[in-house]
Order: sequence, then C-alpha cells, then structure tokens
Amino acid sequence: MTLAEARSLTFAHRRKVFLVSTPTIRGLSRIERELEASDQRRFFVPCPHCDAMQWLKFDRLRWEKGRPETAEYLCEGCDGAIAEHHKTAMLEAGEWRATAEPEDPGTVGYHLSALYSPVGWLGWDRIARAWEAARGSDEAIKAFRNTILGETWVESGEAPDWQRLADRREAWKPGTVPTGGLFLTAGADVQKDRIEVDVWAWGRGLESWLIDHLVIEGGPGDPACWQQLTNLLGQTWEHASGQPMTLARLAIDTGYETSAVYAWSRQVGFAQVAPVKGVEGFNRSSPVTGPTYVDATIAGKRLRRGARLWTVATSTFKTETYRYLRQDRPTREEIEAGHLCPPGTIHLPNWADGEWLKQFTAEQLITVRTKRGFARLEWQKLRERNEALDCRVYARAAAWILGADRWSDARWTDLEAQVGITAEDMADDGAGNTTPASRRAGPQRRTVRSSYMR
Ligand SMILES: [Zn+2]
Repeated sequence: MTLAEARSLTFAHRRKVFLVSTPTIRGLSRIERELEASDQRRFFVPCPHCDAMQWLKFDRLRWEKGRPETAEYLCEGCDGAIAEHHKTAMLEAGEWRATAEPEDPGTVGYHLSALYSPVGWLGWDRIARAWEAARGSDEAIKAFRNTILGETWVESGEAPDWQRLADRREAWKPGTVPTGGLFLTAGADVQKDRIEVDVWAWGRGLESWLIDHLVIEGGPGDPACWQQLTNLLGQTWEHASGQPMTLARLAIDTGYETSAVYAWSRQVGFAQVAPVKGVEGFNRSSPVTGPTYVDATIAGKRLRRGARLWTVATSTFKTETYRYLRQDRPTREEIEAGHLCPPGTIHLPNWADGEWLKQFTAEQLITVRTKRGFARLEWQKLRERNEALDCRVYARAAAWILGADRWSDARWTDLEAQVGITAEDMADDGAGNTTPASRRAGPQRRTVRSSYMR
C-alpha cells in the first residue's frame, strides 16, 4: 500500500488510490481502518411499501427458524416485509449516500454486503441458510461475517465478570471428579516463593471442571517443595463412579528458574510431566509445538538435549478459555429436561474463592499499535496476580499434548469405560453433577453422589 501510494504521487493532481478487500478481525483489518477514515458510503434503497430510503442490514433479515426459504427483509420505516423479488427495482432506485464526514474530504469509501446481490445470485434464502449452518462455530461465523456481510469479526477478549462466575459455581464434593470428567491434567506455575498448581478434569467436547487448587510453599530453591510436587504425581482424585484417577499429564512453566524445572522434570520423567514455555502472538500454526530437546544442567552437569520442552501459544488458550466462559449455558430447567452443556463449558466448584476467580479473569485482550502503526492483539493484565489463568492455560496445553483435541469418539468411549461409566450415565449428567432431580441412575451410584449433592 505504501509503495502504491508513493508511486501515485507522481500524478498528484489527478491521482486515485483504490483499495478493496474483505475485512478480517476488528482492530487488525486494514480495509476497515481505511473505510473508517472515509465518508463511509452505504447504498440506500427505497422500501417498495413506504419508500423509506435505507441501507440493508443483516439483523433485519427475518425467517422462520429452520426455514431459510422464508427469508424476508423488514423495512426500517414501516416494518413491512419485503420479498426478495422487489430487490431488482430497489437496486435500480438506489443511491450511494455518505454516512460519515472524513477528515480528508477527498476520501471516499463504499461498503456493500451480499444482501445486495442481484436476484438470481446469492439470495436472502441462501444467506439465511449460510447463517444457520455457521451458528455454533466461531470460525464459521467469522467467515460468514467477513465474506457475506463484509464486516469484521470482533475477537472478544473482554474479561468475564468474576462475580458472574461466582454466581455460576456448582456444588460437588471437593477433590472429586464429576461424571463427565474423563481424565485429569494439571498446570503448575512456578513463583519465587511457591508453586501453584490447578488440577482440571476434561470430558467430551473439552468440557472441563476445576478439581483442585494447591499452593506449595517454598519455591524452586527448596527441595521439599519439589518433593511435594513429585508426591502430587502419585496422588489420586476420586471419580464420581468411585474410580481413583491420577494426573494424565502435568504441564509446568519453565519461565522462572528454568534449570530447576528441567532438573525436576528429568528426574520424574517426561511421560507424566511436560515442561512448557509460553509465547505471545496469534495466528500460529498450532497452539502447542514440540517437544524440542533442550540442554539441561542437572546437579552441576550439563546434559546436551537433556530435557524436552513444549512451546505454548498462551494467547490462543486464553482466548478460548474466555470464549468458553462467555458462552450461554442451559438453565437449570433445561438441564433437568435433559439438555447438555455446550462443548467447552467450564465448571467451577463452589470452593473457588474470590481471589481465585479474580486471578482467572485477570487479563483482557486489547489492540495495540506498533511503532509503524500496525495493529496487534495483545493480552494485558488487569490485575497483578493471574496464576489461576496461567495454570489453566498450562493444564489446557497438557490436554492438547495428550492429543485430546484430536481424539475419536471411540477413544472417549474407552475413557468412559475406564472410569466405569456408560453412555446412559453421560446423558444423565450433562451438567456435571448439579441437578440431583434429573438423575435416573441406579441406587449404587446415587449413594456415591448423595454424600456431596445438595
Ligand atoms: Zn417500508
């Protein structure tokens, strides 16, 4: 763009620079920035019923749920339904009108969505169908907004409100794993004077439950601290079925006291422990890469390729976590009627206190400008302490390293068999243990749960 503009300076008195694009993400989209600096023309068309001039907006397209062929446009002026066959006449009678005053009056911008496509091309029915198909997937909705509506996608990184999360906490026996949790991972954050560990249970669709939160006092210089972490690898948590579960993988941050973390990891073995390094930035090909073999100094001896290290794009998992926290959940009544929680639902226990919840929601995604004027998305701390979020990201990375993002249905069924539950139990327990009224389980399972159910 810079080069093209420089070249055009030669013809300064009659130059035109024409930029055209589909937008991408709000804050990163160059074309959106250019459009915002223009007079932002929209194509106004008259209503066939009341003649009100208006530009077409997707949220005024209406159809019966599941029947995109009934799509009609509701006029802003008279609320009358406009059928698609009117469009040809409307487009003929339409005109471009500016909707903003640019700083530089010579900057002209036009925006047009697929809602205007001539009759016989991409019809309103097909747009409605594309929307129905996209629902439920952020990726598909983003593509829909970009390519059909010509609008940017807002990558929402707003921190969820910790008090709202507090209201949604659930009651289950501390230290136990609800029915849907099929394997455990932990994320460990190493600090100067302590190691904080959160244990998470994961189920189908990466639904997750916070199972345990430990603060091991002492820090990386203290052998007793490492011994406690080693003990944790042998600890068990009881599944709702009564089965004991151990940690499938513990991911530990190597950012602080790297060599101590490598030494401990090597000592306990890389089968259950994954040393991780967090990196910034989006648009990486994979949220986790590795392992790479790194040199480690153990007991004063330098070992070439002595440790394995995984690299984790923390931004990706933070964004995912906050998206999961924001998504709608079924109401208590719906759960009792058999509705399942959507994939990714994060269940927090009622022992998660205000401090933990504040740490969990301690960051927000913001757009920053680099020195050269480019926009970049970046996570920024809202509060000093954010260990709960870091531990979650590492525990999530551990689930990724285990392969949970790519497991087949058969693999999940295997895990269910291992913890001793059946598909019927799962259907019974979509909410992960919050609604005893919905249970139709046998008497044995009921006794297992009745000790901690309310
Ligand atoms: Zn009208």
